[in-house]
Amino acid sequence: MRIFERLEEYRYEQVVFCHDPSTGLKAIICIHNTTLGPALGGCRMYPYATEEEAVNDALRLARGMTYKAAASGLNLGGGKSVIIGDPHKDKSEALFRSFGRYIETLAGRYITAEDVGTTTEDMVNIQVETSFVVGVDKTYGGSGDPSPFTALGVFQGMKACAEDKFGSASLEGKTVAVQGLGHVGYYLCELLHKDGANLVVTDVRKENVERVVGEFGARAVEPDGIMSVECDVFAPCALGGILDDESIPKLRCEVIAGAANNVLLEPRHGESLAERGILYAPDYVINAGGLINVADELEGYNETRSTRRVMGIYESVKSIIAISKRDGSPTQTAADTLALERIDEMNSMVRLHTGHPYGQLKRQRETL
Ligand code: NAD
Repeated sequence: MRIFERLEEYRYEQVVFCHDPSTGLKAIICIHNTTLGPALGGCRMYPYATEEEAVNDALRLARGMTYKAAASGLNLGGGKSVIIGDPHKDKSEALFRSFGRYIETLAGRYITAEDVGTTTEDMVNIQVETSFVVGVDKTYGGSGDPSPFTALGVFQGMKACAEDKFGSASLEGKTVAVQGLGHVGYYLCELLHKDGANLVVTDVRKENVERVVGEFGARAVEPDGIMSVECDVFAPCALGGILDDESIPKLRCEVIAGAANNVLLEPRHGESLAERGILYAPDYVINAGGLINVADELEGYNETRSTRRVMGIYESVKSIIAISKRDGSPTQTAADTLALERIDEMNSMVRLHTGHPYGQLKRQRETL
């Protein structure tokens, strides 16, 4: 694979290959952009079929994190790491400690976190070797389960969309169809119920459906029926890639706002939604509550501050809607524009020489 050509294409800063034969560690750390701050992004463990596949995943995910952090107003850059291996067979304390040592060598340019295939326990092992890790267990000073914060962010983003579409941010009396009642979906239903929304829900797991029907008076439908339910808002909180040529014509909603990652099968499907007058809240912005919460650990975790920042997703989504109208672009393109505009703005700040290094040099000379 022509790796430097790939790095050139999207201006990646650094890729680090980590190899420790004694622990079996084969990992790739990818730092996309650190204009706004250190690159933060989870560590994924997956039995990639080829090394090329692992590199591609690290590159793709790291770049996504640059946009996510920038659009969320975080002073963080984008990065991601992947460990090549089977999370059910290949994990060991030594493997994650070894990986922690590699992260330490980057001196804070990359901060890791939990992701698909890794757990808070793995982060605790990494933390033995480096402080550049977030998302450790609450008992180790971490921020705990991110799902309630992700749900709060989705709720706020949904309110911003409702204000634009229906003239009021309140979801009282609105019908919201929720697909997936797992960690995020459940908390989202709780917030919607408190706001007075009518819930139509589905999940492939019966017990998840029964809980939400019982606790929040939701109406249940079969999993294959949720996308054609007549509703004000459709909230995808299960799987990615669900908005495609086949499903979009079936939709009977005015807003799409949910937690699931990569819900558009292809970028052009965002255009199809816009053409149909459906307002789509871009996934990586509306589901950033978990990231915002975990990033708060870097300043010494404070739940009140974190909650306030997650509530800011309301403003982020409003800015995206405004950019979308300004540029006549679909909202997912407007989200990228918001991120790039913020990075450019910070990049173009006047470069003042603070005098510090020169002063140091002078003092050193004086003491000679
Ligand atoms: P989860 O696994 O706890 O919940 C997903 C739920 O979807 C499960 O209950 C599952 O049974 C259900 N489901 C699976 N296939 C389905 C189908 N075909 N129809 C209906 N339901 C189906 O996951 P989660 O943590 O709640 O995350 C939900 C989505 O949000 C995922 O796409 C995830 O990547 C994304 N996300 C989550 C977080 C977070 O903080 N947990 C943060 C950002 C993004």
